[in-house]
Amino acid sequence: MSGDYPEGRGRVRLSAAGIEIEGVSIAGHESFYKLPGFHCLLDFGRAPEDVVSYATVCLTHGHLDHAAGLAHHASRRRLAGLESARVFAPAAAVGDLEAWISASERLERVSYGVRLVASHPGDRVLLRRDLELRVLAGRHRVPTVGYLFSEVRHKLREQFTGLSGREIADLRARGVEVTRLEEIPLLAYPGDCGAGIFDAAPELFRARVLLIECSFLRSDDVDRARLYEHLHLQDFIERADLFENEAIVLTHFSQRYSNEEILQALRGLPASLAERAMPFLPASAPRCGDRSGAEGIGD
Ligand SMILES: [Zn+2]
Ligand SMILES: [Zn+2]
Repeated sequence: MSGDYPEGRGRVRLSAAGIEIEGVSIAGHESFYKLPGFHCLLDFGRAPEDVVSYATVCLTHGHLDHAAGLAHHASRRRLAGLESARVFAPAAAVGDLEAWISASERLERVSYGVRLVASHPGDRVLLRRDLELRVLAGRHRVPTVGYLFSEVRHKLREQFTGLSGREIADLRARGVEVTRLEEIPLLAYPGDCGAGIFDAAPELFRARVLLIECSFLRSDDVDRARLYEHLHLQDFIERADLFENEAIVLTHFSQRYSNEEILQALRGLPASLAERAMPFLPASAPRCGDRSGAEGIGD
């Protein structure tokens, strides 16, 4: 055991195509991912000390292995004197999440002031001048949305490229839109999902980093994956040619498998996928052919 985690599982910290991701992901147990570069937290199946400072949380769905940290996170931020967090969540789940927060506030006789943002696929929010969050469609047994982080660049429109800085400033002063936005999809995360996600959210194929579940691996677990709307390794193999991502971080492995079994199964990926696939596991191979880079950091 590593703390209260099953053997070989627990905290993971890795760098995928230059993007730092730290967290825990064990199907049915606990999932959260810190993205320090974006100052965002993806899901919070628990709210340990080091995620309390994250003021923006993107919650994919209400299964408690992803959402149990909601009230705890809010309570701990209040105790620490931090401003209320903003929590994006699927619109259909917001009523129940609000009721949960209200009950917790009554139990504690305090107000957290959590800002729950009812999110629909297609919603866009500028997190920083250069970073946009887009809500993606989800496909799971309960209301679910995914998220896409994109770098936003303000590019000068082609028709103005020969102009001096002074001329451009004059145009701007007259209200002319001199720039256009260019979006570079950096990281996509669909939350828990069945194979229907690939048609519902094709954006997944084009993000630099795809952080995605692969709950099931063994061929006799295909029916289980379908039944619970989770992905199976076979779903990736069937679509091997579609992934344009630089890195594919596979997460949310079922507790049924040992790390060795997971790594062994991933060796069965076609080479074009294997060279970009990184299992989200502590102290294990970040890529199928390379045993360096991922770092287990205990509990
Ligand atoms: Zn889950
Ligand atoms: Zn789930």
